Amino acid sequence: MTTAPAASGTQRNASPYLYGQEAAAVAQVLESGQYGHTALTEEFEDRVAAFLGVTDAVAVSSGTAALHTALLAARVGPGDEVIVPSMTFCATVQAIRAVGATPRFVEINPATLCVDQQVVLDAVTESTAAVVPVLFGGRAVDLSPIHSALEERGIAVIEDAAHAFGSLNGTRRVGATGALTCFSFGPIKNLTCGQGGMVIPRTPEEADTIRRLRLLGVTQSQTERASTTCRVDSFGLRYQLSGINAAIGLAQLGHFDTTVETRRRLWGTYRDALRTLEGVTLVDVGPRTAVPHLCQVRVGRRDQVFQEVRSREIGVGVHYPPNHLQPAFAPWRRALPITEQVGQEILSLPFHQHLTEDQINRVVADLGQAIKTARAVR
Ligand SMILES: *Cc1c(COP(=O)(O)O)cnc(C)c1O
Repeated sequence: MTTAPAASGTQRNASPYLYGQEAAAVAQVLESGQYGHTALTEEFEDRVAAFLGVTDAVAVSSGTAALHTALLAARVGPGDEVIVPSMTFCATVQAIRAVGATPRFVEINPATLCVDQQVVLDAVTESTAAVVPVLFGGRAVDLSPIHSALEERGIAVIEDAAHAFGSLNGTRRVGATGALTCFSFGPIKNLTCGQGGMVIPRTPEEADTIRRLRLLGVTQSQTERASTTCRVDSFGLRYQLSGINAAIGLAQLGHFDTTVETRRRLWGTYRDALRTLEGVTLVDVGPRTAVPHLCQVRVGRRDQVFQEVRSREIGVGVHYPPNHLQPAFAPWRRALPITEQVGQEILSLPFHQHLTEDQINRVVADLGQAIKTARAVR
């Protein structure tokens, strides 16, 4: 059984895709009466680690929690500056604020929507404690030059790979290149737990720190806890991945090959259809080894085109309004002309696994019409 949410198809910009085993897996957890951090959480960690080809993975309750705990594990705190592209989901920036650090917003490369090495290196100051590059849209950017240039200076590189679960960086999966990496398994990500996240730690110590942080600083194991009083050894938060969410993730992981195949195929359909359309540039996600998360174009008069396409009930979106222009981050605002320009041009087309190739072709045809109409009105 594959259930499509009520308004699926082209009305939605994004949508989770269930393979049918998720509901049964959740029902089993509910019947078991154990909803918290359970053996399923650990099984999910092991399965993700095996899939990525890493020795350890630490599950947390969201991608935001993954970034927050990774920053804490890298000892980033008040007074520190963290280099981050303005072009990202606001969660990346809120995680930086959560540790009391300040964002130092930088430009992106307009072709990839990812940060360029030189831009990052030029932004480093005395106060820089970390860099959080974003693997935008699923693109598996090779960040090894940034790692080697910065880590010897004590600057942590934390990869925000919320879009890039499953993507390959050369022959290794994102997360398996030795970098401190954060994934999101939110509702619309390539793999979903309902809500969830994962940190790929660099060392056993880092893994241990994040495991304490996610369980309120309580160090005793579940079984020990049943027989003794709980002991709080360090700072911590309620950030564990529940068994309910882990069960969804495990079911999803069992079908991830299909997810990858479908997303690549549908993205290819868009690429081919968009080739003949004038006035739009597809934001490429790189080699075929990427698992596309978004299908974005850049288009002039974006706001008019957006309204035009929306009036045809097509679920277009914008990923993302630049963060340096957000009211919450006004204290760290600076001029970022490339990001501002890109921010006015990007348009995310409906992209999820409920779409058919016919629907994609119709979206592109409607987009073409919308561009014509938007050009006609002055
Ligand atoms: C989704 C996302 C996050 C946050 O993940 P959540 O699971 O929603 O907390 C962080 N960064 C980026 C780029 C994202 O897209």
